[in-house]
Amino acid sequence: VTENHQIQNIVIVGGGSAGWMTASSLRTVLPPSINVLQIESPRVATVGVGEGTIPTIRTFLKSLQVDEREWMTACQATFKMGVRFDNWCHGSDWWWHPFFFRHPKYDEKRLVDSWVLHRSRGMPQFQNAASLYDYCISWQLAEERRCPRFRSSYGSFQDWDSDHSFHLDAAKFGAFLRDHIAVPRGVEHIVAHVDHVTCDEHGRIRQLLLDSGRTVDGDFFVDCSGFRRLLMNAVNETAWTSFSNDLLCDRAIAIQVPYQDVWSEMRPFTRSTALSCGWVWQIGLFDRIGTGYVYSSAFISDDEAENELRQFIGRDRVSGINANRIPFEAGHLKNPWSGNCVAIGLSEGFVEPLEATALGVTQHHIAQLGRILKQATYSVDQVRQYNQGVRRVYDEIRLFLLAHYCFTSRTDTAFWKTSGALASPLTDSIRDGNILPTAETVGTQVFSPQSWLCLLNGFGQLPNAPLEQSRETLNMAEMQQARDSQQSVRDGFVRQLTYLRQYH
Ligand SMILES: Cc1cc2nc3c(=O)[nH]c(=O)nc-3n(C[C@H](O)[C@H](O)[C@H](O)COP(=O)(O)OP(=O)(O)OC[C@H]3O[C@@H](n4cnc5c(N)ncnc54)[C@H](O)[C@@H]3O)c2cc1C
Repeated sequence: VTENHQIQNIVIVGGGSAGWMTASSLRTVLPPSINVLQIESPRVATVGVGEGTIPTIRTFLKSLQVDEREWMTACQATFKMGVRFDNWCHGSDWWWHPFFFRHPKYDEKRLVDSWVLHRSRGMPQFQNAASLYDYCISWQLAEERRCPRFRSSYGSFQDWDSDHSFHLDAAKFGAFLRDHIAVPRGVEHIVAHVDHVTCDEHGRIRQLLLDSGRTVDGDFFVDCSGFRRLLMNAVNETAWTSFSNDLLCDRAIAIQVPYQDVWSEMRPFTRSTALSCGWVWQIGLFDRIGTGYVYSSAFISDDEAENELRQFIGRDRVSGINANRIPFEAGHLKNPWSGNCVAIGLSEGFVEPLEATALGVTQHHIAQLGRILKQATYSVDQVRQYNQGVRRVYDEIRLFLLAHYCFTSRTDTAFWKTSGALASPLTDSIRDGNILPTAETVGTQVFSPQSWLCLLNGFGQLPNAPLEQSRETLNMAEMQQARDSQQSVRDGFVRQLTYLRQYH
């Protein structure tokens, strides 16, 4: 297909994280001849959650050249080195999804593959799943509330180029990008409610009518209006791929919890604890703990869920603090780019935030969009490829999330029994390695083979052979050395709170 469309004026609707990420990024990568205008409603609040990120966020922040001290302080941000899953198996079990292993002497993949190999050979010291964490510096640091920063011999703090991510305050993140990146770099910002969308006879958007009476013309539109999908509804592009048949959670209750013991509770990781009909996230920001229960309304009422959440946190601790109830449907638009309009953020799609992928997906799609629009033109072919790419990303995330439900041994409530049964057809193909990412495809994947390995290991489902054949295995003496050296490596790193306090 040869039809090309020229772009001169881009209009973004929505001022949540997705809207300001899009505006900041497009303004930074597009030529100045293309105008970027952003409209946000003073009447519609942002979703107010979305505080966990995946390591790719560092690429996003780097691409905007933001100063770490400045943005981390403004967004009450903390470090995140992985996710700890509590009570997903039975009783007091937990497992760790690390963002990195990293060892000063040994290649990360070689280290992990060697552990798997020695385990498959029956070496007793590797049979316990948790023995993997003896080789995992991200867990060692996380356990002691340290962060990936160390003190140099001159006494100053040094970055350690590890694959970590951050926790951040969702509302403050959008505001930071607006005030420090998007607007200063030239995005025109209008605070007004979009009342009407005018399309031409081909279904392409031409004009927006604002409640102020002003009209805004554009030749390309980005729908960042959240679950409302204002523009996608207007162009009638609502075909939806639903995941609700097997990912049962469809509600969240979020509450902001004050710290009691900040030294232990400001964890440099996200904690995900399974409850009766879903799971709770706990995200320690600098000034509070973002907390929320994700659950299935088919198995528990909203009031019961809020009750269970308050019980879990400790009633007294959150008495008088309001909770925010958020319904959602897991899935995505079949064609998030249609004509001259593309949906980014919650308007594009959403899956439960079990692995906190939404901002990462948003960032990924903004980058793709930027690469295309940089040419000030796009073709129908590019639109088709973009939409295919979006579907692939969601399929992969769906699979990884389903794996959590398929391998859990919890059967204590109807929710766990049903979600486990729905996900169980996956079990064999995952174990056989049929749907695991390979070295060839890993560049395009959200979750690395290592993430899969840690998940399988965490749930006691690790196959007996390494997922990929390792090049060179560490011998037992080297394994011992790798393990023993963890402590001295760990001790060089600073406690997260100590580090962040010098910022504030
Ligand atoms: C329960 C839950 C937990 C989550 N946890 C995570 C997580 O841990 N990690 C993660 O990465 N993501 C998470 N997310 C996703 C994350 O919150 C979103 O991806 C992110 O906040 C982006 O939202 P948004 O900007 O698309 O939408 P919103 O924040 O809803 O913003 C919509 C914007 O559109 C504007 N708007 C709406 N209608 C109009 C109109 N008519 N005219 C003008 N403007 C309009 C609003 O004013 C607002 O500014 C979570 C989401 C939920 C629901």
